[in-house]
Amino acid sequence: MNTALEHNELSALIQGVTTSRRSSAPKSDRRKEKRFKGLPASPGIVIGRAITHTTEPLTIRTNSIAAQDVALEQERFRTAVHECTSELQRIIVMAQEEAPVAAPILEAQLFIMNDPTVGEMIQQRIEQLITAEYAVQQVFDEHHRILQHAPDTYLRERAMDLDNVKNRLLDYLCNRTGTRDVEAGCIVLGSVLTPSDVMLFKKSGMVAFVTELSGIASHTAILARSLHLPSVIGVPNVASRINSGVPVIIDGYAGIVIIHPKPETVAKYERRRIDFEKREKKLGRLTKLNSQTSDGRKIHLFANADTLDEIEEARSSGAEGVGLVRTELQLIELKRLPTEEEQVEWYTELAERAYPLPLTVRAFDIGSDKSFGMLPPEPNPALGLRGLRFLLKNRGAFMGQIRAILRASQHRNVRLMLPMVTSVQEFQKGLAIVEQAKKSLRDDEMLFDDNLPVGAMIETPSAALMARELGALADFFSIGTNDLIQYTLAADRLNASIINVYDSFHPAVLRLIKMTVEAAQFNNIPVAVCGEFAGHSAATELLIGLGIEELSVVPSVILELKKRIRKTSYTDAVTLTTEALQLNTGIEIRKYVASAFKKSSKSPNKAE
Ligand code: PEP
Ligand code: MG
Repeated sequence: MNTALEHNELSALIQGVTTSRRSSAPKSDRRKEKRFKGLPASPGIVIGRAITHTTEPLTIRTNSIAAQDVALEQERFRTAVHECTSELQRIIVMAQEEAPVAAPILEAQLFIMNDPTVGEMIQQRIEQLITAEYAVQQVFDEHHRILQHAPDTYLRERAMDLDNVKNRLLDYLCNRTGTRDVEAGCIVLGSVLTPSDVMLFKKSGMVAFVTELSGIASHTAILARSLHLPSVIGVPNVASRINSGVPVIIDGYAGIVIIHPKPETVAKYERRRIDFEKREKKLGRLTKLNSQTSDGRKIHLFANADTLDEIEEARSSGAEGVGLVRTELQLIELKRLPTEEEQVEWYTELAERAYPLPLTVRAFDIGSDKSFGMLPPEPNPALGLRGLRFLLKNRGAFMGQIRAILRASQHRNVRLMLPMVTSVQEFQKGLAIVEQAKKSLRDDEMLFDDNLPVGAMIETPSAALMARELGALADFFSIGTNDLIQYTLAADRLNASIINVYDSFHPAVLRLIKMTVEAAQFNNIPVAVCGEFAGHSAATELLIGLGIEELSVVPSVILELKKRIRKTSYTDAVTLTTEALQLNTGIEIRKYVASAFKKSSKSPNKAE
């Protein structure tokens, strides 16, 4: 996070005084605070001054050339490829040092630029007596059109890579130069910024950027996150509506751009910026360390997050994604089922905030303790109509939700999870609804991720016992220990008087988890634990020893859990678990784990 302005400049801004040499004639009433909403591409808050990045219009010669000039034009094309390749290679070297994630992106462009088929097509066009730049434009635009109409968002966004290469070649062939007056501390506003623009502008001191075009999954957005450059993308006409020199606030968390902010707005964002900075400092170096055991086994850390703020907290704690969104919580606020459109809006916002990290959206788990006063009373609600059972009885609501989740999956970072599965048949029915929802979206010509992973929650003993068969149908498992314990031990999770019966360390529960892990391994699918047990301070070694490789916990627990994971030896954890599973009671297991932990903490090699 940055403040692009020095203190005195900042206070000038607070007083509404602009000092930039670039404060050219206003395009409209510039002095009024105005907000523009885009997509949050990379988090952070920056208060600074805008520089509008514009490119001069291209002059492409479309006239016929003489036959004797063909060789000359072909040579011009070859030189353009050669020169642009050298420039790109220089940027790649820069990227390898500063943003390794960008190097493959730029290498892909290098690959396109030197593609022999494309080169051959351009040479052939020139033989038809057209100029090199016209041939480049034609051939690249034809390829672009094909990709642009691809049903897949990913492919459509790759069309931008083609454009980047085309524009680089055309800049060279038509002697075009873009605005290169980027200076330290500025916020660049552009119609489109290519990954190499971002690399070069960052080198010149750009601290944030805003673009009109570009998807959340575009290489430019990926690069921004990797370079920690706050950015907002998809703001219509930003470059034409805002002048260079205008004071601007970029909120890369919420995707908001504010121009001519009022003093109180600047003060508010400055406070937010400092708060975020403090939080990041507090989390310290642990955020950046790998989540792995002392002997190198990777344990993926995910967050249970239901709000944008929680996703933010999860990201800044280094979570690898969101392992559980409890969608039924939306009902608390609304006191009714949300419409499909309301859901699309919410899930899309969550998915975009999490991007490129995966977001696991659980279908409504309504019923039992989550009836929100909306359902008729049942004699035994925990064993009644809830989760997948409820959804299968309320097809309209189920279909609306699955359509909404699919519609939010365009960027391919959404996963769907079905709650309270108790039989293979039930899960199959759930999958059939997903297929129907896909078909209806195709009929409506709506875009979605056709490969949306669908997982089963393992939170009933029957699901754990049938996990081999369920694993053949599911793309992943997530073990909901809160319910798994309740149903295995026939102990209401909300009943305080039987808290001693509701025992997370009960060997029956651990055996069911083990059985689920083995079934997942048999089917070669990932398995996570997303119930509270995942974050239990004494459970880490046991869960790792049972073979769990993914834990999903509330964001505030992530770093503490990572610390414990890093202190755990996988080999020791397997031994501990094998021995613990020989014991007869939860109490014995707790004691055994505690004494093993005491011993290992005394070992000199264990300290972080
Ligand atoms: C669980 O049962 O462990 C779980 C994560 O789901 P919920 O707590 O929402 O029932
Ligand atoms: Mg549950």
